Amino acid sequence: MTKRAYNFNAGPAALPLEVLQQAQEQLVDYAGAGMSIMEMSHRSAIYEQVNEETQSLLRELFGIPSNYKVLFLQGGASTQFAMIPMNLLPAGKVGAYVATGSWADKALKEAKLFGETTVVASSEADKFNRIPDLSNVEIPSNAAYLHVTSNETIEGTQYKQFPVTGDIPLIGDMSSDILSRPVDVSQFGLIYAGAQKNLGPSGVTIVIAREDLVQESPKSIATMLRYDTHVKNNSLYNTPPSFSVYLVNLMLKWVQSRGGVAAMEQYNRDKTQLIYDTIDQSGGFYRGFADAGSRSAMNLTFRIHSEELEKQFVKESEANGFVGLKGHRSVGGLRASTYNAVPLESCKALAEFMVDFQKRNG
Ligand code: PMP
Repeated sequence: MTKRAYNFNAGPAALPLEVLQQAQEQLVDYAGAGMSIMEMSHRSAIYEQVNEETQSLLRELFGIPSNYKVLFLQGGASTQFAMIPMNLLPAGKVGAYVATGSWADKALKEAKLFGETTVVASSEADKFNRIPDLSNVEIPSNAAYLHVTSNETIEGTQYKQFPVTGDIPLIGDMSSDILSRPVDVSQFGLIYAGAQKNLGPSGVTIVIAREDLVQESPKSIATMLRYDTHVKNNSLYNTPPSFSVYLVNLMLKWVQSRGGVAAMEQYNRDKTQLIYDTIDQSGGFYRGFADAGSRSAMNLTFRIHSEELEKQFVKESEANGFVGLKGHRSVGGLRASTYNAVPLESCKALAEFMVDFQKRNG
C-alpha cells in the first residue's frame, strides 16, 4: 500500500488517490491509442472528446446555464486578474472591487493597470478577518462589474452569500472554493478559478462566462488575452494544457461518483467542523483567525499564542505525517487547507493531533 501524507497543502493540493491511480493506469496507453494523452495531438478526436466531456461534466455538476461558455485557459487565475479589466472594463466605466484579503488585493492592483477602479467595501482595517457586510453596499452606476473573491485562501474567509448586483455583472474568483458547494451561477457574469485546489492539477484555469460578456473583445487586445479568441475556438486556439484538462475530467467524475457538489458541501462541513470545534473548545489555546461568520470551509486559519509554539506545532506535525500546516508567509500562523479531495480521515487525525499537542503544551 502506498503511504499517503495527511496533505493540507493550500495549492497545488491533495488529489483523490483513486484519481491518481486511474491516471497511472492510463498513463502509457490512453483509450487503446498506444500512447499517453500527453503525447497526442490536441486536434485528435480523442482529445476533442476529453475537451467536450470535461466541459459538459462541469456544466452538469455546477449547474451552468446554457447561455454560459466554459473555457480552459492558461496563465493561472493571476492572468484573469488582467484579462478581466482588459476585456470588460472600457474607458468611462469603473471596475468595482470588494477588498477581502491578499487575493482580492492582487486582482485590484492588476485592474488599476488597465482602467479606473473603486473599492466598494473592505475589511482591511481588521486585517481582513472577515467578509465585509455587503447588504447595503453601493455600487457606482457606471460600474463595469463588481469583483469578489469568494474564498480568501490566505486569510481563510469565505462568502456565505453573494451580493445582488442587478444589471452589473458580478465576477467571482472561485480559485479556492469552486465546486466545494452549490452556487447559483446565473447570479454571476463571470467565474474563474485556477484548477490546482479543488479541480485538479495546476496548468489550467477555468473560466465560466455569460455569453454576451465574452462574445466580442476590444480589438486592441493581444490574441491570447481576448476571451473571444477562446470562445470562438472552443478553448483550442493554441495547444491547451491537455494533461491538466484530462485530470480535471477525472476529478469531475470523482465528484460525480461521490454524489455531486451538494454532497461535497456536506462532506466539507463535516471535515471542517472537526477542526473548528477543536479550536473553539481549546479554551483559547488555539484562536481562529477569521470571524466565526466568515470562516472558510476550505482554508482553516488559526494561531497559537506564541510564535515559538506555532513553529513547534509545524515541526511536530511534520514528524507525524502532516504536510502544509504552516500559514502563508504573508500572515504567519497556521492553516489547514481542506479542499474536496482531502479525506475526512486526515481531518480526524489533525483534530486528534491538535488536542494532543495542547495537552502537552497548554
Ligand atoms: N486567487 C485565489 C483566491 C488564489 O488562492 C490563488 C492562488 N493561490 C490565485 C488567485 C492565483 O492563482 P494562480 O497561482 O493560478 O495564478
